[in-house]
Amino acid sequence: MLSVVPRPVIVRAPSKVNLHLGVGDLRADGYHELTTVFQALSLSDDVEIAPAASLSVRVVGVGADEVPTDRRNLVWQAAVRLAHLAGRAPLVEIAIRKGIPVAGGMAGGSADAAAALVGLNELWELGLSRDELATIGAELGSDVPFALYGGTALGRGRGEDLLPVLARNTFHWVLALAKGGLSTPAVYGELDRLRDQGDPPRVAEPQELLQALASGDARHLAPLLGNDLQAAALTLRPELRRTLRAGVGAGALAGLISGSGPTCAFLCDNEAAAVAVAAELSGAGVCRSVRTATAPVPGARVIEDPPR
Ligand code: ATP
Repeated sequence: MLSVVPRPVIVRAPSKVNLHLGVGDLRADGYHELTTVFQALSLSDDVEIAPAASLSVRVVGVGADEVPTDRRNLVWQAAVRLAHLAGRAPLVEIAIRKGIPVAGGMAGGSADAAAALVGLNELWELGLSRDELATIGAELGSDVPFALYGGTALGRGRGEDLLPVLARNTFHWVLALAKGGLSTPAVYGELDRLRDQGDPPRVAEPQELLQALASGDARHLAPLLGNDLQAAALTLRPELRRTLRAGVGAGALAGLISGSGPTCAFLCDNEAAAVAVAAELSGAGVCRSVRTATAPVPGARVIEDPPR
């Protein structure tokens, strides 16, 4: 009898930028209470999953050496978790192609976990809804649910409690990728220290920003972008001030640190402006490399179903 080998599944998952990141008080569980507006960017990772004799993870692309390939990798944890819930063994090989900078404040690990959940749901024909996958994903990491839904969303709690946000039009971004990463817990720790010592700037509530997103006007949106982690990221990596200045000097409408950094994100007026800003930043010697991206894009989705 012929045995049918399921096809490998390839899933693309987006990175994110926080258009607004308000960091509230430290909670009893050690997390900070957040109010954030996420936007999913076309800069993405691809995750390929195929049946195998045992669970393995392989990572290729820029920064691959810094990503663990054992149980510390979020895709490994996603596979073990979903297999347990499905009552089966996690017998798959998972290959991650990194396009999202590692430890760059763009939630690359969460994107990969979201991609693994979508891919395994497909490969194992589990029939779980996106909401069900998001509930499982929230246990793996706070940003995993957003990577599943994509688009633009308001996040509360640790960022996992999501509401979709209306965003008209496509926004054009330039990302300045830094040398080396920043540890998210170190940046939160630095913010706690700055707040103990003084009064670093805090973003206001995001109502006006949500209106600007609904209007689809990048010029209206630009001055409303804000990130409470920026002061802490800049204390840890002062050279990023030059990068932010260079992007705005090159014609971006605004620049901010993405999440916990060190990636700097620049909002541009249109595609041509983004290409011009990217070209000038590339030559300015203020970052490791430069990417352009559009947003919002959908959450983790199957992109290919190769023939057998
Ligand atoms: P955060 O999601 O905490 O804001 P980040 O976006 O700055 O983090 P990530 O690229 O998600 O950064 O990775 C943070 C760390 O998580 C890495 O340094 C790495 O050791 C670990 N990690 C685990 N799984 C992955 C993965 N699939 N891809 C990248 N990093 C991973």
